[in-house]
Amino acid sequence: MNTFGPPKLVLARGEGAHVWDVDGREYVDFLGGIAVNTLGHNHPALVAAVSDQLSTLGHTSNFFTTRPAVELAERLLSICSQPDAPEGRVFFANSGSEANEAAIKLSRLTGRTKIVVMQDAFHGRTMGSLALTAKAAYREPFEPLPGDVTWIPFGDVEALRGAVDEQTAAVVIEPLQGEAGVNVAPTAYLRAAREVTSAAGALLWFDEVQSGMGRTGHWLASAPSGVQPDVVTLAKGLGGGLPIGACLAWGEAAHLFGPGNHGTTFGGNPVVCAAALAVLDTIEKESLLDHATAVGERLRAGVGADARVTDVRGEGLLVGLTLAAEKAPEVVAAAQDAGWIVNATGGDRVRMAPPLVVSFDDVDALVAAWPGILDAAGA
Ligand SMILES: *Cc1c(COP(=O)(O)O)cnc(C)c1O
Repeated sequence: MNTFGPPKLVLARGEGAHVWDVDGREYVDFLGGIAVNTLGHNHPALVAAVSDQLSTLGHTSNFFTTRPAVELAERLLSICSQPDAPEGRVFFANSGSEANEAAIKLSRLTGRTKIVVMQDAFHGRTMGSLALTAKAAYREPFEPLPGDVTWIPFGDVEALRGAVDEQTAAVVIEPLQGEAGVNVAPTAYLRAAREVTSAAGALLWFDEVQSGMGRTGHWLASAPSGVQPDVVTLAKGLGGGLPIGACLAWGEAAHLFGPGNHGTTFGGNPVVCAAALAVLDTIEKESLLDHATAVGERLRAGVGADARVTDVRGEGLLVGLTLAAEKAPEVVAAAQDAGWIVNATGGDRVRMAPPLVVSFDDVDALVAAWPGILDAAGA
Protein backbone atom coordinates (compact mmCIF):
# COMPACT_ATOMS: atom_id res chain seq x y z
CA MET A 1 0.00 0.00 0.00
CA ASN A 2 1.09 3.54 -0.51
CA THR A 3 2.23 4.23 3.05
CA PHE A 4 5.74 5.38 2.13
CA GLY A 5 5.43 7.10 -1.25
CA PRO A 6 7.56 5.91 -4.16
CA PRO A 7 10.72 4.04 -3.06
CA LYS A 8 13.88 6.08 -3.67
CA LEU A 9 15.91 3.04 -4.78
CA VAL A 10 15.59 -0.69 -5.29
CA LEU A 11 18.44 -2.11 -3.25
CA ALA A 12 19.88 -5.51 -3.98
CA ARG A 13 22.77 -6.25 -1.61
CA GLY A 14 25.07 -4.79 1.00
CA GLU A 15 28.49 -5.25 2.55
CA GLY A 16 29.56 -3.40 5.68
CA ALA A 17 28.38 0.21 5.37
CA HIS A 18 27.97 -0.07 1.58
CA VAL A 19 24.90 -1.07 -0.45
CA TRP A 20 24.26 -1.66 -4.16
CA ASP A 21 21.06 -1.11 -6.09
CA VAL A 22 19.64 -3.50 -8.70
CA ASP A 23 21.55 -1.62 -11.43
CA GLY A 24 24.84 -2.23 -9.62
CA ARG A 25 25.28 1.36 -8.42
CA GLU A 26 27.08 1.67 -5.06
CA TYR A 27 26.03 3.87 -2.13
CA VAL A 28 27.56 4.43 1.28
CA ASP A 29 24.79 3.90 3.80
CA PHE A 30 24.77 6.73 6.34
CA LEU A 31 21.25 5.84 7.44
CA GLY A 32 21.71 2.16 8.30
CA GLY A 33 18.04 1.23 7.86
CA ILE A 34 17.22 4.13 10.25
CA ALA A 35 19.59 3.20 13.07
CA VAL A 36 18.92 -0.53 12.61
CA ASN A 37 21.86 -2.11 10.76
CA THR A 38 24.20 -1.88 13.75
CA LEU A 39 26.77 -4.23 12.21
CA GLY A 40 26.22 -3.00 8.67
CA HIS A 41 25.24 -5.42 5.95
CA ASN A 42 26.21 -9.08 5.63
CA HIS A 43 28.22 -9.21 8.87
CA PRO A 44 29.54 -12.78 9.20
CA ALA A 45 28.73 -13.01 12.93
CA LEU A 46 25.08 -12.09 12.32
CA VAL A 47 24.75 -14.36 9.29
CA ALA A 48 26.24 -17.30 11.23
CA ALA A 49 24.10 -16.73 14.33
CA VAL A 50 20.88 -16.60 12.32
CA SER A 51 21.79 -19.55 10.09
CA ASP A 52 22.92 -21.73 13.02
CA GLN A 53 19.83 -20.98 15.08
CA LEU A 54 17.44 -21.47 12.17
CA SER A 55 19.01 -24.84 11.40
CA THR A 56 18.67 -25.82 15.07
CA LEU A 57 15.27 -24.48 16.19
CA GLY A 58 13.48 -21.66 14.36
CA HIS A 59 10.37 -21.03 16.45
CA THR A 60 8.51 -22.27 19.50
CA SER A 61 5.32 -20.92 21.00
CA ASN A 62 5.47 -18.96 24.23
CA PHE A 63 4.39 -22.08 26.12
CA PHE A 64 8.13 -22.80 25.94
CA THR A 65 11.34 -20.84 26.12
CA THR A 66 14.75 -21.25 24.50
CA ARG A 67 18.35 -20.67 25.44
CA PRO A 68 18.82 -17.58 23.18
CA ALA A 69 15.75 -15.88 24.69
CA VAL A 70 16.89 -16.48 28.26
CA GLU A 71 20.48 -15.49 27.50
CA LEU A 72 19.39 -12.32 25.72
CA ALA A 73 17.11 -11.27 28.59
CA GLU A 74 19.95 -11.75 31.09
CA ARG A 75 22.40 -9.96 28.84
CA LEU A 76 20.11 -6.97 28.27
CA LEU A 77 19.52 -6.58 31.99
CA SER A 78 23.24 -6.72 32.67
CA ILE A 79 24.16 -4.05 30.08
CA CYS A 80 21.13 -1.77 30.72
CA SER A 81 21.09 -1.72 34.54
CA GLN A 82 22.82 0.91 36.61
CA PRO A 83 24.92 -0.53 39.48
CA ASP A 84 22.16 0.24 42.02
CA ALA A 85 19.32 -1.25 39.93
CA PRO A 86 16.81 -3.57 41.54
CA GLU A 87 16.06 -6.91 39.90
CA GLY A 88 14.76 -6.63 36.34
CA ARG A 89 12.61 -8.56 33.88
CA VAL A 90 12.18 -8.49 30.09
CA PHE A 91 9.25 -8.85 27.70
CA PHE A 92 10.20 -9.53 24.07
CA ALA A 93 8.20 -8.02 21.20
CA ASN A 94 8.83 -7.59 17.46
CA SER A 95 9.25 -3.84 16.98
CA GLY A 96 9.62 -0.54 18.75
CA SER A 97 5.92 0.20 18.66
CA GLU A 98 5.15 -3.16 20.20
CA ALA A 99 7.78 -2.71 22.91
CA ASN A 100 6.06 0.59 23.67
CA GLU A 101 2.59 -1.01 23.65
CA ALA A 102 3.88 -3.40 26.31
CA ALA A 103 5.15 -0.46 28.36
CA ILE A 104 1.82 1.39 28.00
CA LYS A 105 -0.14 -1.65 29.18
CA LEU A 106 2.33 -2.21 31.99
CA SER A 107 1.96 1.39 33.12
CA ARG A 108 -1.86 1.03 33.19
CA LEU A 109 -1.45 -1.82 35.69
CA THR A 110 -0.19 0.72 38.22
CA GLY A 111 -3.88 1.61 38.55
CA ARG A 112 -3.24 5.06 37.07
CA THR A 113 -3.84 6.17 33.48
CA LYS A 114 -2.12 9.52 32.94
CA ILE A 115 1.00 9.42 30.77
CA VAL A 116 3.26 12.47 30.47
CA VAL A 117 5.12 12.73 27.16
CA MET A 118 7.44 15.19 25.47
CA GLN A 119 6.53 17.57 22.66
CA ASP A 120 8.19 16.36 19.43
CA ALA A 121 8.30 12.79 20.77
CA PHE A 122 8.08 9.81 18.44
CA HIS A 123 6.96 6.53 19.99
CA GLY A 124 5.50 4.60 17.04
CA ARG A 125 2.47 4.10 14.82
CA THR A 126 0.25 1.52 16.53
CA MET A 127 -2.82 3.00 18.23
CA GLY A 128 -1.28 3.06 21.71
CA SER A 129 2.18 4.22 20.72
CA LEU A 130 0.61 6.71 18.27
CA ALA A 131 -1.30 8.23 21.18
CA LEU A 132 2.13 9.18 22.62
CA THR A 133 3.56 10.45 19.31
CA ALA A 134 3.62 14.21 18.99
CA LYS A 135 3.09 14.96 15.31
CA ALA A 136 -0.57 15.93 14.88
CA ALA A 137 -0.55 14.87 11.21
CA TYR A 138 0.29 11.30 12.26
CA ARG A 139 -2.32 11.21 15.03
CA GLU A 140 -5.37 13.17 13.95
CA PRO A 141 -6.72 10.92 11.15
CA PHE A 142 -6.89 8.05 13.66
CA GLU A 143 -8.49 9.71 16.66
CA PRO A 144 -9.92 8.78 19.09
CA LEU A 145 -6.73 7.26 20.44
CA PRO A 146 -6.14 6.03 24.01
CA GLY A 147 -6.37 9.14 26.19
CA ASP A 148 -5.05 10.77 29.33
CA VAL A 149 -1.86 11.91 27.60
CA THR A 150 -0.26 15.19 28.72
CA TRP A 151 2.33 16.98 26.57
CA ILE A 152 5.20 19.00 28.00
CA PRO A 153 8.19 20.73 26.38
CA PHE A 154 11.27 18.50 26.10
CA GLY A 155 13.93 19.38 28.66
CA ASP A 156 11.82 21.82 30.73
CA VAL A 157 12.16 20.79 34.39
CA GLU A 158 9.52 23.22 35.66
CA ALA A 159 6.95 21.90 33.16
CA LEU A 160 7.79 18.38 34.31
CA ARG A 161 7.27 19.29 37.96
CA GLY A 162 3.96 20.91 37.05
CA ALA A 163 2.67 17.96 35.02
CA VAL A 164 3.57 14.97 37.18
CA ASP A 165 1.15 14.23 40.02
CA GLU A 166 -0.39 11.36 42.01
CA GLN A 167 -2.50 10.42 38.95
CA THR A 168 0.55 9.96 36.73
CA ALA A 169 1.25 6.38 35.67
CA ALA A 170 4.42 7.14 33.69
CA VAL A 171 6.67 9.80 32.23
CA VAL A 172 8.09 8.83 28.84
CA ILE A 173 11.32 10.35 27.58
CA GLU A 174 13.53 9.64 24.59
CA PRO A 175 16.91 10.51 26.17
CA LEU A 176 17.95 11.35 22.64
CA GLN A 177 15.02 12.20 20.36
CA GLY A 178 15.66 10.70 16.93
CA GLU A 179 12.68 11.42 14.69
CA ALA A 180 12.44 14.98 16.02
CA GLY A 181 15.77 15.67 14.32
CA VAL A 182 18.20 14.50 17.04
CA ASN A 183 17.72 16.40 20.31
CA VAL A 184 19.77 15.38 23.34
CA ALA A 185 18.15 15.53 26.79
CA PRO A 186 20.47 17.23 29.28
CA THR A 187 21.69 14.95 32.09
CA ALA A 188 20.14 17.29 34.65
CA TYR A 189 16.76 16.78 32.99
CA LEU A 190 16.97 13.00 33.24
CA ARG A 191 17.99 13.27 36.89
CA ALA A 192 15.13 15.68 37.62
CA ALA A 193 12.73 13.28 35.88
CA ARG A 194 13.91 10.49 38.19
CA GLU A 195 13.41 12.62 41.26
CA VAL A 196 9.96 13.89 40.21
CA THR A 197 8.61 10.47 39.19
CA SER A 198 9.91 8.77 42.31
CA ALA A 199 8.28 11.42 44.49
CA ALA A 200 4.92 10.98 42.72
CA GLY A 201 5.08 7.18 42.58
CA ALA A 202 5.06 7.31 38.77
CA LEU A 203 7.14 5.16 36.45
CA LEU A 204 10.07 6.67 34.61
CA TRP A 205 10.18 5.11 31.16
CA PHE A 206 12.98 5.77 28.68
CA ASP A 207 12.17 5.00 25.04
CA GLU A 208 15.61 4.00 23.75
CA VAL A 209 14.26 2.28 20.64
CA GLN A 210 16.46 4.45 18.41
CA SER A 211 19.11 5.70 20.84
CA GLY A 212 19.94 2.40 22.55
CA MET A 213 22.23 -0.53 21.80
CA GLY A 214 25.45 1.33 21.10
CA ARG A 215 24.09 3.99 18.78
CA THR A 216 25.40 6.82 20.99
CA GLY A 217 28.63 5.10 22.02
CA HIS A 218 26.91 3.69 25.11
CA TRP A 219 24.55 0.76 25.56
CA LEU A 220 21.86 3.30 26.42
CA ALA A 221 21.92 7.02 25.64
CA SER A 222 20.79 7.55 29.23
CA ALA A 223 23.62 5.44 30.71
CA PRO A 224 26.11 8.29 31.34
CA SER A 225 23.47 10.15 33.38
CA GLY A 226 23.56 7.41 36.01
CA VAL A 227 19.75 7.45 36.10
CA GLN A 228 18.07 4.09 36.60
CA PRO A 229 14.61 4.21 34.99
CA ASP A 230 11.75 1.81 35.82
CA VAL A 231 11.18 0.89 32.19
CA VAL A 232 13.33 0.92 29.02
CA THR A 233 12.06 0.04 25.56
CA LEU A 234 14.42 -1.15 22.84
CA ALA A 235 14.16 -2.25 19.20
CA LYS A 236 15.78 -0.86 16.02
CA GLY A 237 19.52 -1.59 16.42
CA LEU A 238 19.02 -4.50 18.82
CA GLY A 239 18.51 -7.14 16.14
CA GLY A 240 20.94 -5.68 13.61
CA GLY A 241 18.18 -5.88 10.97
CA LEU A 242 16.05 -8.69 12.34
CA PRO A 243 12.75 -7.59 13.86
CA ILE A 244 12.89 -7.54 17.65
CA GLY A 245 11.69 -5.24 20.40
CA ALA A 246 12.12 -5.47 24.14
CA CYS A 247 10.46 -3.91 27.16
CA LEU A 248 12.72 -4.01 30.21
CA ALA A 249 11.45 -3.19 33.69
CA TRP A 250 13.03 -3.10 37.12
CA GLY A 251 11.78 -3.34 40.70
CA GLU A 252 8.01 -3.19 41.21
CA ALA A 253 7.46 -2.37 37.54
CA ALA A 254 9.03 -5.72 36.62
CA HIS A 255 6.23 -7.53 38.45
CA LEU A 256 3.18 -5.66 37.14
CA PHE A 257 2.41 -8.13 34.36
CA GLY A 258 1.01 -11.50 35.36
CA PRO A 259 -0.01 -14.45 33.18
CA GLY A 260 -2.81 -13.42 30.80
CA ASN A 261 -2.05 -9.66 30.86
CA HIS A 262 -0.08 -9.54 27.64
CA GLY A 263 1.26 -11.80 24.91
CA THR A 264 2.76 -12.20 21.46
CA THR A 265 3.18 -15.07 19.00
CA PHE A 266 6.59 -14.15 17.62
CA GLY A 267 8.12 -12.23 20.54
CA GLY A 268 11.20 -13.99 21.93
CA ASN A 269 11.65 -16.02 18.75
CA PRO A 270 15.00 -17.86 19.06
CA VAL A 271 16.31 -16.75 15.65
CA VAL A 272 15.91 -13.04 16.37
CA CYS A 273 17.20 -13.50 19.92
CA ALA A 274 20.29 -15.27 18.54
CA ALA A 275 20.73 -12.38 16.10
CA ALA A 276 20.53 -9.84 18.94
CA LEU A 277 23.07 -11.81 20.99
CA ALA A 278 25.42 -11.77 17.98
CA VAL A 279 24.94 -7.99 17.69
CA LEU A 280 25.79 -7.46 21.37
CA ASP A 281 28.77 -9.87 21.23
CA THR A 282 30.16 -8.16 18.13
CA ILE A 283 29.75 -4.67 19.60
CA GLU A 284 31.93 -5.89 22.48
CA LYS A 285 34.44 -7.86 20.41
CA GLU A 286 34.99 -5.10 17.85
CA SER A 287 34.92 -2.29 20.49
CA LEU A 288 32.13 -0.60 18.55
CA LEU A 289 31.01 1.62 21.44
CA ASP A 290 34.38 3.39 21.42
CA HIS A 291 34.47 3.33 17.64
CA ALA A 292 31.00 4.94 17.42
CA THR A 293 32.15 7.70 19.76
CA ALA A 294 35.36 8.43 17.84
CA VAL A 295 34.02 8.17 14.32
CA GLY A 296 30.86 10.09 15.31
CA GLU A 297 32.94 12.98 16.64
CA ARG A 298 34.86 13.11 13.37
CA LEU A 299 31.63 13.04 11.35
CA ARG A 300 29.97 15.84 13.36
CA ALA A 301 33.08 18.01 13.23
CA GLY A 302 33.52 17.40 9.50
CA VAL A 303 30.01 18.10 8.24
CA GLY A 304 29.47 20.81 10.84
CA ALA A 305 32.47 22.79 9.56
CA ASP A 306 30.48 24.00 6.54
CA ALA A 307 28.93 27.42 7.23
CA ARG A 308 25.66 26.29 5.62
CA VAL A 309 25.21 23.95 8.61
CA THR A 310 24.06 26.06 11.55
CA ASP A 311 23.81 23.39 14.25
CA VAL A 312 25.15 19.87 14.82
CA ARG A 313 23.64 17.64 17.49
CA GLY A 314 23.84 14.07 18.68
CA GLU A 315 26.04 11.52 20.36
CA GLY A 316 28.09 8.77 18.78
CA LEU A 317 26.57 7.82 15.44
CA LEU A 318 23.17 9.45 15.82
CA VAL A 319 23.83 12.79 14.17
CA GLY A 320 21.42 15.66 13.45
CA LEU A 321 22.25 18.74 11.40
CA THR A 322 20.31 21.94 10.98
CA LEU A 323 20.78 23.73 7.66
CA ALA A 324 20.64 27.48 7.22
CA ALA A 325 18.14 26.92 4.38
CA GLU A 326 14.99 24.76 4.24
CA LYS A 327 16.76 22.38 1.88
CA ALA A 328 17.01 19.07 3.72
CA PRO A 329 15.01 17.04 1.15
CA GLU A 330 17.17 18.53 -1.64
CA VAL A 331 20.32 17.62 0.30
CA VAL A 332 19.08 14.04 0.68
CA ALA A 333 18.44 13.83 -3.09
CA ALA A 334 21.80 15.40 -3.98
CA ALA A 335 23.59 13.04 -1.58
CA GLN A 336 21.90 10.06 -3.21
CA ASP A 337 22.93 11.28 -6.66
CA ALA A 338 26.50 11.43 -5.37
CA GLY A 339 26.33 7.93 -3.84
CA TRP A 340 25.46 8.66 -0.17
CA ILE A 341 22.33 7.68 1.76
CA VAL A 342 21.22 10.18 4.42
CA ASN A 343 17.76 11.26 5.59
CA ALA A 344 15.70 14.39 6.31
CA THR A 345 13.71 14.64 9.55
CA GLY A 346 12.33 18.07 8.68
CA GLY A 347 12.60 20.88 6.15
CA ASP A 348 15.95 22.03 7.50
CA ARG A 349 17.10 18.91 9.39
CA VAL A 350 19.30 16.10 8.12
CA ARG A 351 19.87 12.89 10.11
CA MET A 352 22.72 10.40 9.82
CA ALA A 353 22.75 7.03 11.59
CA PRO A 354 25.29 4.85 9.79
CA PRO A 355 26.18 1.32 10.90
CA LEU A 356 28.46 1.32 13.95
CA VAL A 357 31.07 -0.40 11.76
CA VAL A 358 31.32 2.60 9.41
CA SER A 359 34.99 3.32 8.76
CA PHE A 360 36.99 6.51 9.26
CA ASP A 361 37.66 6.37 5.50
CA ASP A 362 33.94 6.40 4.71
CA VAL A 363 33.41 9.31 7.08
CA ASP A 364 36.34 11.25 5.62
CA ALA A 365 35.02 10.63 2.11
CA LEU A 366 31.57 11.94 3.04
CA VAL A 367 33.09 14.99 4.71
CA ALA A 368 35.09 15.65 1.50
CA ALA A 369 31.95 15.26 -0.65
CA TRP A 370 29.73 17.32 1.68
CA PRO A 371 30.33 20.85 0.29
CA GLY A 372 29.63 19.57 -3.23
CA ILE A 373 26.41 17.91 -2.03
CA LEU A 374 25.27 21.20 -0.45
CA ASP A 375 26.18 23.06 -3.66
CA ALA A 376 24.17 20.62 -5.78
CA ALA A 377 21.21 20.97 -3.39
CA GLY A 378 21.34 24.78 -3.57
CA ALA A 379 21.58 24.77 0.23
C1 LIG B 1 11.38 3.98 15.44
C2 LIG B 1 10.92 4.32 16.80
C3 LIG B 1 9.78 3.71 17.38
C4 LIG B 1 8.90 2.77 16.59
O1 LIG B 1 9.54 1.59 16.26
P1 LIG B 1 8.94 0.64 15.12
O2 LIG B 1 9.86 -0.53 15.13
O3 LIG B 1 8.94 1.41 13.85
O4 LIG B 1 7.57 0.28 15.54
C5 LIG B 1 9.46 4.03 18.69
N1 LIG B 1 10.21 4.89 19.41
C6 LIG B 1 11.29 5.49 18.90
C7 LIG B 1 12.10 6.42 19.74
C8 LIG B 1 11.68 5.24 17.57
O5 LIG B 1 12.74 5.88 17.05
